[in-house]
Amino acid sequence: MNEKLESPDTSSPVLVAGAGGFIGGWLVRSLRDQGFSNIRAVDLKPLSDWYQIFDDVENYVADLQLLENCRNAVQGRRFVFNLAADMGGMGFIEANKALCMLSVLINTHLLEAAREVGVERFFFASSACVYNADKQNVTDVVPLRESDAYPAMPEDGYGWEKLFSERMVRHFDEDFGIVGRIARYHNVYGPHGTWDGGREKAPAALARKVALARLTGDHTIQIWGDGEQTRSFTFIDDAIYGTERLFWSGFSEPLNIGSDEMVSINHMVDILEEIAGIRLTREYQLDAPKGVRGRNSDNTLVQSVLGWKPSQKLSEGLETTYAWISNQLVL
Ligand code: NAD
Repeated sequence: MNEKLESPDTSSPVLVAGAGGFIGGWLVRSLRDQGFSNIRAVDLKPLSDWYQIFDDVENYVADLQLLENCRNAVQGRRFVFNLAADMGGMGFIEANKALCMLSVLINTHLLEAAREVGVERFFFASSACVYNADKQNVTDVVPLRESDAYPAMPEDGYGWEKLFSERMVRHFDEDFGIVGRIARYHNVYGPHGTWDGGREKAPAALARKVALARLTGDHTIQIWGDGEQTRSFTFIDDAIYGTERLFWSGFSEPLNIGSDEMVSINHMVDILEEIAGIRLTREYQLDAPKGVRGRNSDNTLVQSVLGWKPSQKLSEGLETTYAWISNQLVL
């Protein structure tokens, strides 16, 4: 039944796929905090590499690209949250299009296994990378409405996989009755996420660079592109709250979960400099991966469907994130 679940039964068996990652880890924490007592958490990474791990959760390691592992993961589950994907920031997705597309195996096999055992509700983590590139080629971009994904011209590789998987979730809902919920996240950031190693996104990468400059006294910073490209960044608390509200809601179309506070990358560096109390000399790497020229979230639909939209101010979210990343550097 494609309806709103007013007060979900917290003894319901839940699967969080990709639970060792950034958003998955926070989602497990939040579900526990709300009293969910039967959570299974699965990820490809060794347990020692999970960003957050909880003793009262069934945690295990498995490659969810394999159907057999998906069958084991969904066994006995009523609700499934799929946050597992081979992904990263622009530097990773532009250089690894085939790997990004292989995440389709995770979604396909999880959905197929979910159908076999009669999972009731299925969440898919999609992305603002599904939006048509032609609508994102200026810095003062018109915020993206959900309908702007079509006609389709998403980010090559990663975005195409997300768009295809969105439709698969939709058709498993329509044809097999697995209620599908799809969030299009816009640049989620916060503590306990990827902050170095090549998969990090702009907020974490810049926070790390600023923190390192402060630590080492080398007051230069390298910025990808001319720094005038614009984005909006969604703090993790908003992303988790929106995910849960959407999941239990009666809304079955893809929905933006993204802040509409748009800034340029240069402005984000200004904020980070302010937080760190330093000024840096900026070196622009014009041939580095940059992604689209401008992107922002239109929150009209999420506001009307959920009666809520992300509201955490970027300066506050960056302060928390900067503090956490600085701490990682000295540990
Ligand atoms: P993340 O990389 O921190 O988490 C993804 C997790 O999936 C990782 O822990 C990874 O080990 C796991 N994984 C990868 N392949 C797997 C496999 N074969 N089997 C099992 N686990 C596997 O990323 P995140 O930021 O937490 O993103 C979660 C989801 O949200 C992803 O689907 C991502 O595409 C989507 N998303 C994230 C953002 C963002 O800004 N963080 C934006 C848009 C969409």
